[in-house]
Amino acid sequence: MMEGIGKIRDALGSERLAAALRIQGSALRSVGEFMHKEGFVQLMPVMISPITDPLCHSVYDARVEYAGQELSITKSMILHKQVAVSSPHLPKIYIVSPNVRLEREHLRGSGRHLVEFTQVDMEMRDAGKEEFMGLMERLLCKVIHDVRRERAEELAFLGRRIEAPSTPFPRFDSKKARAEYGEAFEASLSQSLSTPFWLLDHAREFYDREDPERRGCYHNYDLVYPEGFGEALSGGERDWEYETLKRKLAERGQKEESFGTYMEMAKAGHLVPSAGGGFGVERLVRYLSGIRSIAEVSPFAKLPGERFVL
Ligand code: AMP
Ligand code: MG
Repeated sequence: MMEGIGKIRDALGSERLAAALRIQGSALRSVGEFMHKEGFVQLMPVMISPITDPLCHSVYDARVEYAGQELSITKSMILHKQVAVSSPHLPKIYIVSPNVRLEREHLRGSGRHLVEFTQVDMEMRDAGKEEFMGLMERLLCKVIHDVRRERAEELAFLGRRIEAPSTPFPRFDSKKARAEYGEAFEASLSQSLSTPFWLLDHAREFYDREDPERRGCYHNYDLVYPEGFGEALSGGERDWEYETLKRKLAERGQKEESFGTYMEMAKAGHLVPSAGGGFGVERLVRYLSGIRSIAEVSPFAKLPGERFVL
């Protein structure tokens, strides 16, 4: 018990944490303002559901049983986002969404993985990747601009200098980058660049849009922070047609039945084309603050494989 008190009091006593949280407050206000101006409607988060994001990496299962049904704790709201934008009245949505991902222990020292974190998750009906990527560039520039203006004192205290980047951000094809820099291409590029950049075309989850003419090529993207801070956001255009989704689930060894009403919506022709993405709030704060360890930007940070005290 004493160990718990010590740990929490250490975390809460940190002036660096308080500075990071004030930066977080300004960043979130800036994001909310931007989304509102752009006409996005904010949905409240879904935290338990019969379906969730299958992810493209393996985590421990987080489930609860309720009223005779198996529910997953939300890993991301991607499937709910696709369903929501199928409404003609909700073409642009976003959610400040708590995600639980019981990450494997080896990620404990990554500096950027928590087992619960918050994602700002967005989706736009009938949009393509250019529109969404442009929007994200403008959003990040505004956030940096607002944080520099409002939180000059905190940035100075943390010894952080951060410039608003120029747009458009550089782009790299992930396959070419892998061939040139090896498996750790994201980290290599992030370390060598001083501007945020895009990595395009990743083979991953079944819902990211695969080019129908060029199988194995995906209309998706990651936004990556420079200076070694690594991945900021993942997103993509989405597939929405039943036959395509069904084939891609089968290719990934995933069962259609595990996606219940989502796949029924697809089969009934109710899903629509969209594009979107989500960025982790704690990772944004880490980058803005120049604090390397994600554990230092959250008072109740939970690192993979750790024993939690609160
Ligand atoms: P994903 O769609 O899996 O890439 O997740 C979307 C975004 O959430 C990522 O780009 C990160 O910014 C953030 N994120 C993902 N996993 C974690 C994690 N375990 N801890 C903190 N942030 C995360
Ligand atoms: Mg990702």
